[in-house]
Order: sequence, then C-alpha cells, then structure tokens
Amino acid sequence: MTKVKAMNRDELKIKFEDIPPEGLDIAFEDKRGDLIKDCYPILKPIRASVHLQRWGIDVKVTGQVETEVALPCDRCLKEFSFPIKGRIDVLLEPRAVLSRMKEELRLTKDDLDVIFFDGHTIEVDEVVREEILLAIPMRKLCHEKCKGLCPICGKDLNEGACQCKRDVRESPFAVLKKLMASSG
Ligand SMILES: [Zn+2]
Ligand SMILES: [Zn+2]
Repeated sequence: MTKVKAMNRDELKIKFEDIPPEGLDIAFEDKRGDLIKDCYPILKPIRASVHLQRWGIDVKVTGQVETEVALPCDRCLKEFSFPIKGRIDVLLEPRAVLSRMKEELRLTKDDLDVIFFDGHTIEVDEVVREEILLAIPMRKLCHEKCKGLCPICGKDLNEGACQCKRDVRESPFAVLKKLMASSG
C-alpha cells in the first residue's frame, strides 16, 4: 500500500494517474486550520487520513477527519468549542461525465455522495474541507438552554437577569427568541 504523509496543501492535489491500482493512502495534519480559516478558527489541529481508490474514471475517497472548531453561539454570540469527528465517503466523478450521462447518473448514483472534478486532479484538501463544514450544525448553540442576550441592554442572560422591562418593549423577534430558548 502506497502511503503519503502530506505536509502542505499542494501535496493534497493528487494527479489521477499517480494513484496506483491498489490505491493511495494519505495522512495529513493542518495545525493552523488553513483548510477552513475563512470560515471558523480551530482549537485543535485538523487531522485526516484518506484512501483514494480508482474506480474506472472515478475516484472513491474514504477516510476520516478530526478537529475541534470554535463556533459563535447563535443566541449569546460567545464562542464555544465543537469537536468534529467525521467519516469521509465520497465519489469523485469527472465533470465531463455529468453532461454526457446526466440522467443515468441521477438514477444510479442517488445514494452516493458525488463530487465532480476535472478528471485529472483530486483536490483532497477540498474534500476534507467540505466534510468539516458539513459536520457543523445549522443551529449553533453553546448549550441547549442558552438564554441568549437581552435584546434591550445586551446583557448575557446566562449570567443573570437584567433590569429591563422586556414584556412591554419586546419585539416579535425577541418573543420568538425567548420561545425558542424556553423550548430548546
Ligand atoms: Zn450561547
Ligand atoms: Zn436587559
């Protein structure tokens, strides 16, 4: 089994013809979180190990990725740590195939996670980045019962109540926010 330890992002751009018949294993660590730095800061290095396997003109990518990111809470805006441990299981298909057999693809590969590529270069860094971002929840809460901020004075209500008379001045959004907080 061919094993590669990638040290930087360029080494994660793998040429299709460089994948041996038995497949290619790649392990890498991104200590600074460059892969997702435009989205979220990391608290622990991104560690991934992937296996590339040729399937005709397709490439199957399997493996796992681990990290911990800092997310801003939707309610109180404070950052909290969110550990990620994701499995990678995607099929890369040459983009040219898309136009040629669009319909067939839809019928046969519905259950597979398909990403399109140019047919020559497998951007492992992009695959890993995608998996990390997919693992981040739509609703980001520091904890389920986070009380959020007072819509008037901005106080973090997790640290105690404020003096605002919120019942008379509450906006519909604040009411909704409170409802969500109590039901969450
Ligand atoms: Zn919060
Ligand atoms: Zn207040």
